[in-house]
Amino acid sequence: MSSTQQAGTETTAGANSLVEHWIDGGRVSAPGAATLPVHDPATGAATKAVALADAATVDAAVASSVAAGAAWGTLPMSRRLPIIHRLRGALLAHAGELARIISSEHGKVLDDAAGEIARGLEIVDLACAAPQLLRGSYSPQVAGGIDTFSLRQPVGVCVGITPFNFPAMVPLWMFPVALACGNTFVLKPSERDPSASLLLAELAAEAGVPPGVLNVVQGDRAAVEGLIDHPEVAAVSFVGSTPIARAVYERAAARGKRVQALGGAKNHVVVLPDADVGQAADAVVSAAFGSAGQRCMAISVAVAVGAVAEPLVEAVAQRVRALRIGAAAEEGSEMGPLITRAARDRVVDYIERGARAGARVVLDGRDAPATARDGYFVGPTVLDGVEPGMDVYDDEVFGPLLGITRAETLDDALALINSNPYGNGAAIFTSSGAAARRFQQEVQAGMVGVNVPIPVPVGYYSFGGWGDSLFGDTHLYGPEGFHFYTRGKVVTSRWPADEQSRVSLNFPG
Ligand code: NAD
Repeated sequence: MSSTQQAGTETTAGANSLVEHWIDGGRVSAPGAATLPVHDPATGAATKAVALADAATVDAAVASSVAAGAAWGTLPMSRRLPIIHRLRGALLAHAGELARIISSEHGKVLDDAAGEIARGLEIVDLACAAPQLLRGSYSPQVAGGIDTFSLRQPVGVCVGITPFNFPAMVPLWMFPVALACGNTFVLKPSERDPSASLLLAELAAEAGVPPGVLNVVQGDRAAVEGLIDHPEVAAVSFVGSTPIARAVYERAAARGKRVQALGGAKNHVVVLPDADVGQAADAVVSAAFGSAGQRCMAISVAVAVGAVAEPLVEAVAQRVRALRIGAAAEEGSEMGPLITRAARDRVVDYIERGARAGARVVLDGRDAPATARDGYFVGPTVLDGVEPGMDVYDDEVFGPLLGITRAETLDDALALINSNPYGNGAAIFTSSGAAARRFQQEVQAGMVGVNVPIPVPVGYYSFGGWGDSLFGDTHLYGPEGFHFYTRGKVVTSRWPADEQSRVSLNFPG
């Protein structure tokens, strides 16, 4: 670690002006290394700087994870598991502090940040079930005197590259499972809201995770590529936008790594004429505008089938008008700002382009009083008559913009969704079991909701989309997460008595 220096471990994440790396159980920074500003999206003020890892820092982190791997990977489960249990306790004890850090850099309101931590904790719960999920199988007497059994072993150094929109939850979807399986882990969080990663690392250390088992490397593209290319890195988990997911997948696969790369989304909710319009509107508004639409499972298109269209638009508009926009710290705020000025400007541009393409602007986020502030606010926007071929329909906007599309039948709605390149989540609102069953069977998406708008699976199922929403074949967490972070081995064994041994050139049958 020649170019890095230990910078002390006693400070709390968020209190330093420089957000550093976490390597070998402590904060480190490389003097003179490049940094980027970190902003409070509610005010636009630069509040911190984040270090950008150079090649030496990436090497130091991976070397530390390699060095820690042998002892951690062979640590008896009876000693590894209590550490994961204590991590759960530490996270619970510091959930309020973690939520405040998330809100201050991401901008989401505190309740939303608390929800993110709760969903992350589910995966720590899952990791506590590692002994059950890692159990092998045993088949006695598969041939004369021969037994066969299977086991799963850690893959080695795993890397997690995570997006800005869930700075605690997405890392928690990855590293607790990877660690429980006996791997070491290098986290590369988003450079836009990096401080939560340091608190996660501190809490892991407090729980007894040994130095080097969980490292954090701050940075941007250079750090990501350095980690993927590193010969000692065995597995790469990525969550972020589709173009980067595709690039990460291709780069890691070309180097022979196992890789799962989750990308962007365009999630549709179909509302059938027999649905309860009030319930559907509540769900659509919650799922479209929670976290200012910056969720990969946010609803960005509502497909109104038949006569439900007019009442649905009216019910949605009524609810959206009542939303309170403001900073996380302000009493009663329900929706915060966007992550950056560029993200805010992008949404404003899509409103304009949607209107120019012929969509009817039912509610215009540019008119919200909060947009006059210095922070990156844009109000919730509803565009009616959004259709394929309009940029606002075709692209992932990733902001508080709901498009409403009309369809005549469930067939039309299914055809619309199934021709979209993304396939993360899809939902239907109906009172017909037959329609719901048909939808869940035929829709091309990895996660499906029936009268549930954001169908993020619970921890003991796995999370992942289809199409351009996931490159690779394993989903995150749940049984597939355990599969991804382990390699299978099958042992065939015989303990013959001396007199049973003989030469045989036949193929054993
Ligand atoms: P992003 O793709 O810009 O960044 C994700 C990560 O990749 C970050 O750590 C970033 O530093 C790194 N990165 C950025 N540019 C890179 C490059 N050129 N080469 C290598 N690495 C690079 O995504 P974001 O803006 O942070 O997050 C929002 C996106 O993530 C949305 O598209 C959203 O749908 C998606 N997302 C998907 C899921 C899912 O589960 N499918 C979950 C959350 C977010």
